[in-house]
Amino acid sequence: MDVQAFDAYLLAHRERLLEDFKDFLRQPSVAATGQGIAEMAALVARRLTALGAKVQIVPTEGDAPPVVWAELGEGDKELLIYNHYDVQPPEPLELWESPPFEPTIRDGRIYARGASDDKGELVTRIHAIEAWLATQGKLPFKIKWLIEGEEEIGSPHLHAWVERHKAWLSKPDGRPIDGCLWEFGGFDEKGRFTLTMGVKGICYVELRVRGVSHDLHSSNAALAPNAAWRLVWALNTIKDADERILIEGFYDHVRELTPAEEAVLRAMPFEEEEIKAKWGIQAFVTGVSGFDAVKRLFFAPTATICGLSSGWQGTGVKTVLPAVASAKLDFRLVPNLTPEIVLDLLRKHLDRHGFADVEIHFLGGYRAEICDVDSPMVIAAERAAQRVYGQQPVKVLLSPGSGPMYSLSSFIGGVPVVAAGIAHPDSRAHSPNENAILQNYYDGMRYIGALIDEFARLS
Ligand SMILES: [Zn+2]
Repeated sequence: MDVQAFDAYLLAHRERLLEDFKDFLRQPSVAATGQGIAEMAALVARRLTALGAKVQIVPTEGDAPPVVWAELGEGDKELLIYNHYDVQPPEPLELWESPPFEPTIRDGRIYARGASDDKGELVTRIHAIEAWLATQGKLPFKIKWLIEGEEEIGSPHLHAWVERHKAWLSKPDGRPIDGCLWEFGGFDEKGRFTLTMGVKGICYVELRVRGVSHDLHSSNAALAPNAAWRLVWALNTIKDADERILIEGFYDHVRELTPAEEAVLRAMPFEEEEIKAKWGIQAFVTGVSGFDAVKRLFFAPTATICGLSSGWQGTGVKTVLPAVASAKLDFRLVPNLTPEIVLDLLRKHLDRHGFADVEIHFLGGYRAEICDVDSPMVIAAERAAQRVYGQQPVKVLLSPGSGPMYSLSSFIGGVPVVAAGIAHPDSRAHSPNENAILQNYYDGMRYIGALIDEFARLS
């Protein structure tokens, strides 16, 4: 790779590329409301076509946001890239210092909804590939690029889409693609570059209890069943005060760490006291600390009450006996514990404990995924980091957050995934004043150039 020519191109075209970045940010694309989705898919398709890619806008289901699928370059070796063109809703608007869809540069950062999640990452990759093609000639391998438009609402149609297009998501002879570059990534609190090889899964449910036919005067409590109490009693059977999840069979589906996974976890920096200070607590749950806390954060399932609602919560007093009560719960999942298993075990658990009347409404989920932590994809990503950032990156076994990684890894034959990006801890993804540090974007393009080079070299 001619690094000098690559860098010189980025410098010479900096203004135009930055304008292109802003064009992506000016186009709203809110999956939750559908605002601007079709226009955004068209913009991404146009931009990738201009790169020389073969591009298709492929429907998912009905008029749900389509997938933009692009292929560029040739070769037996293949790299899959996953990004998304949708963003979170910009509200609350009054908390933005500049309008969410008017990209604004302040203090070396570009502010707009999607600047980090995920248009910043997408544009960094597009611009790096443009620079590669302009200065190095052809791509040294084939790139397949999947850009979906529903990531921010839980990718409800992605798995079925992948199932329908499975042939595209493997090599012509049926072997799995050699590696996948995931949509997110970046730097931690101490400015260390990170590589992430997996995600926790999630199972999100709403529990509903219906009691009397309508809210009653609370004087009837002596005789009338209370939906809120019933919900509380049901919830109380799910987890105990020692943080142990009590759903029978739950932990049977949690596998052991492999030695390689454990080594990654042990090597991960974990600034325990700083986290506690930031959260304003003296101790983590159960007093866990050190490696046990790391293991818990990255490799233990959780059961979380995300919200509770019932009865009167307004100002002052209202003596009412609520007819209905509901709770939203998420379970963060580790490998082998799938959303399907959780739903099944939770139903059986509630039935067994006398709560057959508690309804479970499934609101979405993903399986967990942990990819090979020493795959060639990871090695290429590490070498590129050493070249561009001059540091050995921190390997993060998996993100405690979730994403559709299983569909693009184990499900398509075991494609090794690595997440490497440009985000920083104050990116404010999903929040007002979302931003990207421009220097991270500039370095990020050089990183992608180095990654292409390193990935090409691996046999
Ligand atoms: Zn997001």
